[in-house]
Amino acid sequence: MKISEIFKQKKRTLSFEFFPPKKVENEYTLFNTIDVLKKYNPDFVSITYGAGGSSKDKTIEWTLKIKKQYGLNPMMHLTCITTTREFIDEIIDTLKANGIDNILALRGDLPEGFDKSKMEFNHAYQLAKYLKGKEDFSIGVAGYPEGHPESPSLEKDVEYLKMKVDAGGDFIITQLFFDNSKFFEFLDRLKIFRINIPVIAGIMPILSLTQVKRFVEMCGATIPKKLLDKLEGKSKEDVYKIGVEYAINQCQELIESDVKGLHFYTLNKFNATEEIIKALSLT
Ligand SMILES: Cc1cc2nc3c(=O)[nH]c(=O)nc-3n(C[C@H](O)[C@H](O)[C@H](O)COP(=O)(O)OP(=O)(O)OC[C@H]3O[C@@H](n4cnc5c(N)ncnc54)[C@H](O)[C@@H]3O)c2cc1C
Repeated sequence: MKISEIFKQKKRTLSFEFFPPKKVENEYTLFNTIDVLKKYNPDFVSITYGAGGSSKDKTIEWTLKIKKQYGLNPMMHLTCITTTREFIDEIIDTLKANGIDNILALRGDLPEGFDKSKMEFNHAYQLAKYLKGKEDFSIGVAGYPEGHPESPSLEKDVEYLKMKVDAGGDFIITQLFFDNSKFFEFLDRLKIFRINIPVIAGIMPILSLTQVKRFVEMCGATIPKKLLDKLEGKSKEDVYKIGVEYAINQCQELIESDVKGLHFYTLNKFNATEEIIKALSLT
């Protein structure tokens, strides 16, 4: 089902992100995670696309498997910076032939050494436009409450986001953030640029301090000092507990502010996401 249609029927969506496992032995973990999280009736689940298209076959395989085997509503992530129109056309045909309605249109990052003269798409808005011109997918686009790391300013970032919306973006999924005030300020900027489509908040429960520090460094998000101080020097178990408790409070405040959707970056693990869902009665 098209995510744009779901928004017409529901006040708030619940969704999960998974990545296609590289190793066969890790597939069991993902099967198990889907088995558990399926119980909470997600409106859709998304499957990431390896940087530079490195996971393309696996991403397609899991997108189809999640629909056929689990009857869930998948959204496939698709990055465009290293790809060709011809290849996108093949993907469109495969997705349409298998009844997949949703794509997250992304630029992705340029792998080191990639020959720039081969680039057919420079930015995600071009992919969103191309997809909309071809088939009637529901298209999601990425938003950055704290700005994309390459953006000259927060305002310019939203100006470019508006191009993705005008190109056919039906909804926005945000990069992970831990400070809700950054998300609320982002929504205010969207209003200034007359961006009125639903904004789904990307939530990452903290499972490990080292890991989350690496993620925020890569994507330009920040961990509030108060939270960081709580986490530093704690055992793995305590970090997990603090992370889950923090995410519960963060989601609670977002729900009270009428957030249009909560999208959990599960990292293919179910425990933390399940605890948060149960605590908030999110089914
Ligand atoms: C929800 C979510 C899911 C993601 N999933 C994946 C995934 O599965 N695989 C993966 O590899 N990566 C993924 N990413 C990461 C994403 O690919 C990177 O953040 C990437 O650097 C930017 O992608 P984008 O689609 O936002 O690009 P764009 O919208 O093209 O923006 C990239 C940069 O260019 C600027 N820009 C945009 N348009 C213009 C323009 N017209 N002129 C000049 N500058 C412009 C923007 O401000 C920004 O700084 C995801 C990110 C999010 C938030």
